[in-house]
Amino acid sequence: MKILMVSSEAVPFAKTGGLADMVSSLSTALAKQGHKVKIVLPRYYCIDRTRLEALEGAMGVPMGGGEEWCKVYTASLPGLPPKNPIEAYFIDHEQFFGRDGIYGVPSEPDFLDNPRRFTFFCRAVFQLCRKIGWYPDVLHSHDWPAALAPVFLKFRERSGPFGNTVSVLTIHNLGYQGIYSKDNYQHTGMSWEIFYHAGFDDWNMMNLLKAGINSADSLNTVSPHYAEESKTQEYGFRLDGILRYRSADYRGILNGIDTDIWNPATDTFIPETYDINDMKGKKKAKEALQKEYGLSRNPDVPVIGLVSRLTGQKGVGELFGPAYGSAYSFCRDMDLQFAILGSGEAWCENELRSLSSQLPNLKAKIGYDERLSHLIEAGSDFFLMPSRYEPSGLNQMYSLSYGTIPIVRNTGGLTDTVENFNQDTGTGTGFMFDELNPQAVYNTIGWAIWAWYNRREQIEAMRTRGMKLDFSWAASAKKYIEMYEWTLKKTV
Ligand code: ADP
Repeated sequence: MKILMVSSEAVPFAKTGGLADMVSSLSTALAKQGHKVKIVLPRYYCIDRTRLEALEGAMGVPMGGGEEWCKVYTASLPGLPPKNPIEAYFIDHEQFFGRDGIYGVPSEPDFLDNPRRFTFFCRAVFQLCRKIGWYPDVLHSHDWPAALAPVFLKFRERSGPFGNTVSVLTIHNLGYQGIYSKDNYQHTGMSWEIFYHAGFDDWNMMNLLKAGINSADSLNTVSPHYAEESKTQEYGFRLDGILRYRSADYRGILNGIDTDIWNPATDTFIPETYDINDMKGKKKAKEALQKEYGLSRNPDVPVIGLVSRLTGQKGVGELFGPAYGSAYSFCRDMDLQFAILGSGEAWCENELRSLSSQLPNLKAKIGYDERLSHLIEAGSDFFLMPSRYEPSGLNQMYSLSYGTIPIVRNTGGLTDTVENFNQDTGTGTGFMFDELNPQAVYNTIGWAIWAWYNRREQIEAMRTRGMKLDFSWAASAKKYIEMYEWTLKKTV
């Protein structure tokens, strides 16, 4: 099959979160199974143009009643055999993408012209196919920035060369939908009849993800459990109704992890590699982590790690909220160390700086640091993810394969990947809690720390069990292929 991934992020080019990992690693897994995959994304400033190859000539893209002109660049995704490479194409438009930040900058977190930027991007996808003379069987869009591609396919392009193309939309996070003033609809160049027919309308605003969900031939999200949760009022962010309506075309496929990057046996970011048969490297990583974080270098004290965007979704309010967060209390009351890496909401970054100065056993580094995220996964004994909701979650899978026991809320992809500890039978791979509140976090950490000091054999058995699990992409990529084939069969 010929598959075109339409995404605002893809590693190693542009990343703010798990979406970027997923797009590239799924593409790689599909290519390894023999499919022809291309990726298209905007050319932001963070993508160095001098390392890309320019396609000849400029490209015109219909916008509103007129046309916008751009350049197209290309590069191969690293790490693939030359016989089946994945080409990434970059849409280069100075006014829309020639700036720092993918969706925004700290002073303007959601660029005012985002609806215009991503309308342009989604329309450019079709012009790109014409330009390179390559028409996909499957147009696979990811999240709200790419959600207009299925809409354009359905209402503008499904004739001529795209007559046999189907669209798939993957929802990575329902919390971000791209809701803007409907004045922006003019950039699509489509009629108001289509505005209502495609379901853009959202309380007199324009909702890009909603229109994508209505228009795509197939839909999925990134874990089976989140697919079910997203159809409920509690988790559906007001789109539960249309997800229920489209449930025959909607499924959950768990993300895999890129085992070329996340594998303790080959990891180049950690002091010494290790595997299930020889765990010396993990001890070294713990030592290095304690040193780097200025924590006392004691191998007997359990280290809890956390690597996260610092936003409400990740449970940071319940952890670090001034006066009510549980981190202060569990670090004060329990014999443990807590190593944190993250960036995000300003209040939380400030609170972490303050907690780091008050507590000798809690240390936080603010920022985005790939190397350190690997060291935390390898050097910690436990990894904390108290998410409010978690469509898939990658860090708990990294943790399991690094012999680091996850402590997670029982939600979304965390439910699908972690099995709760049973202290009577010794079974399980992690520690889980149902309700998200500071007390539940405190109690579950207490339970894990109790097990560390009192049930050490069970803890070691859990580590081993986690390391034996297979989270590689091969199985999930097969499920995507199944979905593509099913969609092609029902649509064209
Ligand atoms: P989400 O996509 O919701 O942020 P995931 O768990 O699916 O959550 O993926 C997060 C990804 O981003 C992981 O690869 C994680 O290691 C990485 N990450 C998040 N914050 C940081 C940070 N401050 N430094 C380095 N990597 C980070």
